[in-house]
Amino acid sequence: MDAGHQSPKLIFEEKKAITLFLWLFYIFYLTYSIFWYIIIPKYTTYGNAQYIKEGLGYWQYIIVLCFLPVSIYFYKKENPYIIKNFIFFGFILIDLIDNLLRYLGTARPFASGNIVELLFILFAPIFVNKKYFWTVSFGVVGKYSLLGIVLQDADVLPAIGTIIVLIAISYVLLIRFFSYIDSLSSAHEELRQKEKLAVIGQMAATIAHEIRNPLASLKGFAQLQQERFPESGTYFPIMIQEIDRIDMIVNDLMYIGKPKATQIEKTSMKEILSYTISIMEQQALAQDVVVETIFAEKIPLIDCDERHLKQVFINLLKNAIEAMPEGGIIKIIAQPLGDSKVVVTINDQGCGINNEDISKLMVPFYTTKKDGTGLGLVVTHQIIKEHNGELKLESDPGKGTKVTITLPISQKK
Ligand code: ADP
Ligand code: MG
Repeated sequence: MDAGHQSPKLIFEEKKAITLFLWLFYIFYLTYSIFWYIIIPKYTTYGNAQYIKEGLGYWQYIIVLCFLPVSIYFYKKENPYIIKNFIFFGFILIDLIDNLLRYLGTARPFASGNIVELLFILFAPIFVNKKYFWTVSFGVVGKYSLLGIVLQDADVLPAIGTIIVLIAISYVLLIRFFSYIDSLSSAHEELRQKEKLAVIGQMAATIAHEIRNPLASLKGFAQLQQERFPESGTYFPIMIQEIDRIDMIVNDLMYIGKPKATQIEKTSMKEILSYTISIMEQQALAQDVVVETIFAEKIPLIDCDERHLKQVFINLLKNAIEAMPEGGIIKIIAQPLGDSKVVVTINDQGCGINNEDISKLMVPFYTTKKDGTGLGLVVTHQIIKEHNGELKLESDPGKGTKVTITLPISQKK
């Protein structure tokens, strides 16, 4: 990751992680060395007093301590991302040289697993960075493998075994972090979407309310004029048709974020579908689109607001028809699903939707049509959700789209 593309908040998080890590690293490294190589051998028969006298000796400590001012420099330069890699590679390199100096050319068995490496692996998840995690894992395993090959010594194998176990543990932690972060950000995104809808809803409801009254009188007068001047041909019907279109858009707008009070009643899905198809037939025929229906003989009733569900199927049928400018067949299937649900699928042979665009469909005002509003699916989704149902869109670009709606059956006696 490059600090230049990170938000200050993330840089701050990285700084916290690297600070914690540097403290742990130096405290662990120095106390372990002082105890094991100096104090314990002095007072007991354990420990390893020889250690400091061989290999890089004290130089190892002096060089590793020099990493600290360099790290602080990067920290101050607001580039904390580099530090963890710098410390890791620096340390591994020094340790490798130290080990080679110690063992190369001697017949001594390898016995120098370094405890600090375990720290690198166990704490890798605090950086929440998969690349770094794998760098550390492969780096450490690679160092031991290299030593094993160069020194021709199989004694590195227990160290590698231990390290692999730790890598596995650390990996589980890292994956948990990532999954937690993912769900957190998707919850956040959902909330943002809801808030956006609420704001649009409020605004829309206010504006829509103001538009509807003048619209109603416009339509009334247009109809009146049409009756008075029937010889003026096609203009008045077009005017009335366009006013109806504005009215529909305003209706959609009023629905978003501010659902109307629902009147839930036991209703037949077949009736809703038949009604919707009869309304849309005109538009379908004009475009050479044929609507085929397959309804199961017995479809349980559902609890719903009939007007709203009709709106749902009008929106979906409209989309299907609009996706087939060259004509085609729309297949509508309605049937029970198990004994608690009803499922309706609407299959068209239209242009389909690209995979990457599917996620945008529920975003208000997303449309690919010249005179689309991008509200139809938003409203549809909202209505289905209010009915505790599910809406699923599957599409094969160029071949067609399948919309599946699942609704619970009526609970009323
Ligand atoms: P609008 O129809 O006003 O564009 P919608 O919310 O109904 O708004 O649809 C949003 C977009 O989703 C459409 O512009 C279209 O690109 C795509 N879409 C929806 N249904 C279909 C379908 N059956 N086939 C192909 N594309 C579709
Ligand atoms: Mg639409």
